[in-house]
This record gives sequence, C-alpha cells and structure tokens, in this order.
Amino acid sequence: MSLDIFRLDGQVALVTGAGSGIGQRLALGLAEAGAAVGCFDLPHSSGIAQTVRGIEAAGGRALAAAGDVTCAEDLAAAVAAVEAQLGPLSVALNCAGIANAAPAEMMPREQWQRMLDVNLTGIFLSCQAEAAVMLPRKRGAIVNIASMSGSIVNRGLLQAHYNSSKAAVIHLSKSLAMEWCDRGVRVNAISPGYTATPMNTRPEVADQRKVFEASTPMGRMATVDELVGPAVFLVSAAASFCTGVDLLVDGGFVCW
Ligand code: NAP
Repeated sequence: MSLDIFRLDGQVALVTGAGSGIGQRLALGLAEAGAAVGCFDLPHSSGIAQTVRGIEAAGGRALAAAGDVTCAEDLAAAVAAVEAQLGPLSVALNCAGIANAAPAEMMPREQWQRMLDVNLTGIFLSCQAEAAVMLPRKRGAIVNIASMSGSIVNRGLLQAHYNSSKAAVIHLSKSLAMEWCDRGVRVNAISPGYTATPMNTRPEVADQRKVFEASTPMGRMATVDELVGPAVFLVSAAASFCTGVDLLVDGGFVCW
C-alpha cells in the first residue's frame, strides 16, 4: 500500500484557532501534506496573517478568515469564503479554545459560561457550519481539539470549567461521529497533553511548566510539531475507518 494515503493533495481545510499555538502549527501541517487551508481566528489576531504567509511561502494556498467561534454567522461566512476561494471544504480542524483558572466555589457564573461558550459551543457551531457543506456531498473529516483534561483532572490546576468543557468536546465528537457515520463525514478528537504553546509558555507559568514536565511520564511537554502527524492521520484516507476516536497525544500522562 502506498503512503500516499496520508497525503491531503486536493483537499480543502478550515482550521479554527489558526493564529496561535496548536492551530497555527496544524494549519501549516495540513498545507505541508497538500491541503489548501482557510485560517480562522479572532479579528484582532495578527497570527492568522502570519500563518497564511507561512503557508504561501512554502508554496501552498491559504486564506485568512476573521471571526469568533461563538458566532454561527462568522463561521458560515468563513466556510463560504473558503469554498469560494479555495474549493469544496473536505477537512476541518477545530482548535480555537481558551484556558484560565479559579476555585470552583468562587468562580463567577460568567467565567464558567464563557469557558463553555468558547470551548464547547464554539466547537459545536464549528462542526455545524462545516458539516452543512460536507454532509450534502457525503465527504468530510473533522477533528476537534479536546484535551487530556477531558479524561483526567490536572493535579493542582483549579479549572473545573475547562475540564468539563473538554470532557464534553470528547463526547460531542463521538455523538456527531455517530449521527454522521453513514453520511460520509468522520468526526474524531485529539486530546493533547501539556504542550508548549503561548497558553503554557508565558513567563508567569514558568514554575508550572516544570511541574507539567515532571508529571508527564515522558518527562517533557509536547511540541506543537508532535501534533501534526496525529492530525494529518485522522483527516487523511489512512484513517478512513476511524470515527468517534479520542486520540490521546499526551506522552503517557493518563497511564499514571
Ligand atoms: P493558543 O496558543 O492560545 O491558541 C488558541 C487560539 O484560539 C488563539 O489564537 C486564540 O485567540 C483563539 N481563540 C480563542 N478564543 C477564540 C474565539 N472565541 N474564536 C476564535 N478564536 C479564538 O492555545 P493552544 O495551546 O494552541 O490551544 C489550542 C487548543 O488546544 C485549545 O482548544 C486548548 O484547550 C487545547 N489544548 C491545549 C493544550 C496545551 O497544553 N497547550 C493541551 C490540551 C489541549 P487569542 O490568542 O486572541 O485569544
């Protein structure tokens, strides 16, 4: 069998959260595998222009689409722009997300609600907008970025809202996978462990970083490069019989 089954030539992708961290690297990774990529992030993000430039500099095709994943209209407009300028959407990586912390007993309702709005409803609305064009063509592969925090509770981190949102993303992905499994659209999740991105490399979390490294069986955080292979695999023909999977990419974290 040819390893071409891992290639994405001729595919058109949308990546949310493409202006930073995991989403930015995965947008570049999909382009390296041959896809044209629509890069979606918040309007103030300077990162999406950088992502688009990086893809084009490597000879790929890309466009920037600004918007908020909590806004269905923004997502529909992004899908329409991708289809008009790059072609029929066949791949989506939903990476946009936020993280913060507060003791549960003191967490304001607004903080809880904002987390669920971005991390869970944002993923649901992204999947809806993407499936709206994929289902009629019976062709599509969606990957939602969840987290190992959807399966375990990170020791020392007060983030009941984040952990709950990620557990829900895993089950949402399985639920959508089952709704669409006989209609040509696969839905999977990737659950990263601690990964070196702006979310985790700010100077003020330098001490936490040491704890993250020490508590990971492989003794270090993931690099964003290490998520490219799993993501390309799950959206490629190599994963044609995979749907409803939650692929943990965590350096062994949940084994301990
Ligand atoms: P990141 O560098 O902060 O990237 C997240 C991106 O999403 C940012 O560009 C952010 O924009 C954007 N975003 C936030 N809210 C948005 C919204 N409402 N609409 C559109 N875009 C929005 O973080 P990351 O570490 O790459 O995280 C990416 C995903 O991986 C998240 O879902 C995160 O929960 C998950 N994850 C991360 C880790 C880790 O250790 N880093 C581990 C497990 C899972 P702004 O920067 O302007 O806010």
